[in-house]
Amino acid sequence: MSPYRNLEEYNIEITNEVKEHFAKIMDDLGEDVSREGLLKTPERAAKAMLFLTQGYKQDATEILKGAMFAESYDDMVIIKDIEVYSLCEHHMLPFFGKAHIAYIPNGHIVGLSKIPRVVDVFARRLQVQERLTHDILECINSTLKPKGVAVVIEAAHMCMMMRGVQKQNSVTTTSGFRGQFEKIETRNEFLKLISADLS
Ligand SMILES: [Zn+2]
Repeated sequence: MSPYRNLEEYNIEITNEVKEHFAKIMDDLGEDVSREGLLKTPERAAKAMLFLTQGYKQDATEILKGAMFAESYDDMVIIKDIEVYSLCEHHMLPFFGKAHIAYIPNGHIVGLSKIPRVVDVFARRLQVQERLTHDILECINSTLKPKGVAVVIEAAHMCMMMRGVQKQNSVTTTSGFRGQFEKIETRNEFLKLISADLS
């Protein structure tokens, strides 16, 4: 299985099954599934949902291992403002925002594009923001074995914005730190760098 597999070819059996479920749900919600505008909606919804949960079939560790290079650089590497789109596991509604990730190499660096890929692998499944943060942190920590790794995610949750408490502007921040980032000075340097506007 290629770690880069993108779900562009859909398993017909699974797609059809999910499609039938969506048609039933739409009917239960009071829609007329046979009206013209909705004819292809169950299939589109099935494909969208399979795309948004393709992370179950991808291997973040393999993605990182495939692009690790020996390198003596040992200062902080920061990838800021990585877009995050995920689905909350409680309501299956989107939550989205940005991830900021840093690591301090310990003999190896990783291709920079791989870090956002790791984010996608864990974001494209049913998640809670806390576990998403932890999954990314542990994957980088155990694969790259850096001197330290830090992950901060800021996200807005549609299940809070559209229903329930209807707090339109609240953003949830989660963070995790390992190794040298557990030291307050290193952590503060990282937090200062991700909040600096370099543009
Ligand atoms: Zn939710």
